[in-house]
Amino acid sequence: MVVPVNLTGKVALVTGVADDVGFGWHIAKALQAAGAEIVLLSHPRVCSIVERFLTRDKSAAERKLPFGVDGELKPRALIGCDVACDTAADIPEAMKGEKGYESDVSLEGAFARVRALVPHVDLVIHCVAFSPEIAKALPEVSRKAYLTAQSVSSYSLTALAQAARPLMKGREGSVVGLSYMASERAVPFYGGGMSSAKASLESDSRMLAWFFGEDGHRVNIVSAGPYASRAAKSIGDIGTMIDTTAQKSPLRRAIDADDVANAVLFLCSDLSRNVTGTTLYVDAGYHAMGV
Ligand code: NAD
Repeated sequence: MVVPVNLTGKVALVTGVADDVGFGWHIAKALQAAGAEIVLLSHPRVCSIVERFLTRDKSAAERKLPFGVDGELKPRALIGCDVACDTAADIPEAMKGEKGYESDVSLEGAFARVRALVPHVDLVIHCVAFSPEIAKALPEVSRKAYLTAQSVSSYSLTALAQAARPLMKGREGSVVGLSYMASERAVPFYGGGMSSAKASLESDSRMLAWFFGEDGHRVNIVSAGPYASRAAKSIGDIGTMIDTTAQKSPLRRAIDADDVANAVLFLCSDLSRNVTGTTLYVDAGYHAMGV
């Protein structure tokens, strides 16, 4: 029997790849293994680093596709994109001289490159999060940092979806964002305004599901358990967080990046053709627990 997950002919924009550890990398591999063509939209500052992960011998094993599919992660393109900037005018003067910021890396500039590269877009994966004060608990967070967290980690889903929408016309697309349970429960160490950013990300995904549904597109969220990515390590003691969550989860184990990638793959496939506006937990069941 052949399981019907076939993304052949689909183009996936995957944001938030900075290394071969984070969720974005594993999601890109799963989507490519299912037949999708991948375009990476990475932070301009990390593009040269990602390029190395895509080519150096040392990362060959990490590039291998999952599910026993022959081949390795080979995006059609790697495009610099700072999701905090809608147009070139939003790129701060001070950043314009920085490595990676030589060209227009705003969403407008990045999508001009996407349009020149592919005729359509089917899948949009939002894998981006940042707060400049991530180590500060909410009561200590400045307005500026809180709003930056909102802009980069939450509004960017709407901005990406807006930018991709003309390219998704007639395609029955799927948009997937990544969240964390601190959006709906108090998780004191999840600081920097990120808990609020995740709450609005999830809320926006439901609104977008309605507005994009009229075009046949779906919008969903995967709420992942803790995982030791670069972003997560900046939050605090991620090892303790993972162990504690694992002990208290119904399945008594931690998640890995492939678990999240597989859930995103499901949400991008026809298997979920009537699933939209939902948050799918990939956390070994932790969210279901009370005391
Ligand atoms: P990660 O560090 O690999 O990914 C975060 C990405 O955001 C990085 O690639 C970074 O370059 C990118 N980014 C930050 N600011 C940006 C900007 N202005 N423009 C473009 N890109 C920018 O870490 P990850 O854990 O794989 O995170 C991916 C997603 O998963 C995030 O939304 C995160 O909140 C979510 N998530 C992570 C965990 C976890 O424990 N790791 C749990 C639940 C949800």
